[in-house]
Amino acid sequence: MASLISCPHCGSRPKEEFTVKGAVVKRPEPDAGETAWMDYVYLRDNPRGRYREYWHHTSACRRWLIVTRDTVTHEIESTIDAAEAGRAEVRS
Ligand SMILES: [Zn+2]
Repeated sequence: MASLISCPHCGSRPKEEFTVKGAVVKRPEPDAGETAWMDYVYLRDNPRGRYREYWHHTSACRRWLIVTRDTVTHEIESTIDAAEAGRAEVRS
């Protein structure tokens, strides 16, 4: 049975249509310093449990999504459009 991912634009689609692009990490300020930028570019947590990642719906709508999933069970908690999540973050 194929794993289905719920795209907010396309509905339930096979996971093979998506490309995982990496952890959702807050970008440092431009003048944050070399250590902050090295951490941002090269270091990632490897958590056991809940994790937020950028996924790209490569084979369909080509939108960037934020997928929250459990790294142990692979259960997906939520899938939201990254642009809409960014706008909500700016408003708050
Ligand atoms: Zn889509």
